[in-house]
Amino acid sequence: MKKFAFLLIPFLLFPLHTNANETKVTKELKAAIIIDDFGGGTGGVRDFLEGQIPITAAVMPFTENSKAHAEWAHKNGFEVMVHLPMEPKRGKRSWLGPKPITVDLSKEEVRQRVEEAIKSVPYAVGLNNHMGSRAVEDEEIVRTIVEVAKEKNLFIIDSGTSPGTKFPEIAKELGVPLLKRDVFLDDISSSSYVRKQMIRLAKITEIKGRGIAIGHVGVTGKVCSVGIFQSTDEFKRRNIKIVPISELFAGELTQKHLVP
Ligand SMILES: [Zn+2]
Repeated sequence: MKKFAFLLIPFLLFPLHTNANETKVTKELKAAIIIDDFGGGTGGVRDFLEGQIPITAAVMPFTENSKAHAEWAHKNGFEVMVHLPMEPKRGKRSWLGPKPITVDLSKEEVRQRVEEAIKSVPYAVGLNNHMGSRAVEDEEIVRTIVEVAKEKNLFIIDSGTSPGTKFPEIAKELGVPLLKRDVFLDDISSSSYVRKQMIRLAKITEIKGRGIAIGHVGVTGKVCSVGIFQSTDEFKRRNIKIVPISELFAGELTQKHLVP
């Protein structure tokens, strides 16, 4: 009897050595910051692409600078995504840029535009939507985009421009890795607002273990970059690592997704 009790002692003394606790101790907090609208806006292009924060560059296709910005980003070690313009419910047609995905297009036209868009942004490993509150609710359009993403081994980030988006359910159905944006950083153009939104990103990351923010390189690019750079100490203090977006997919990406 005594001998039996002795054998139990190590387990009573070290109850913390369970798998659950080990996971908790080693769990890394990771956040990704996608900067949209490269290829177009010039506001913060250099600040981000020559900066030290590993943002992910979402590049608009078919613009004068699509290729140059994608190559610049890649050369400096930044992850690149295609920022696919999609028709919104409100907004000017000119905000969409050339060859957007609109709901009047046939399935074949959508397919062709998505394939061309991917071609026009070298090094892209993923895709997110620019605007799109109308088109992301159209099941056939979204299905075509997700099918092409699957064929080209691109993951998808739902920018979250409509609560009625079909991206999550169709990506799940077709087995395409997808994550959703948590926070917009610069819907008000001031660096103090961006800092406030970065704190929101930090809090969400602390709760979920990972968080995704989207900012913009164009009109708000300067204040956005300043706000992000000013927040890096706070992220270090909270032990949150800012990483390229692909690092947030827990084991869902294979090698073929990560080779542009
Ligand atoms: Zn955009």
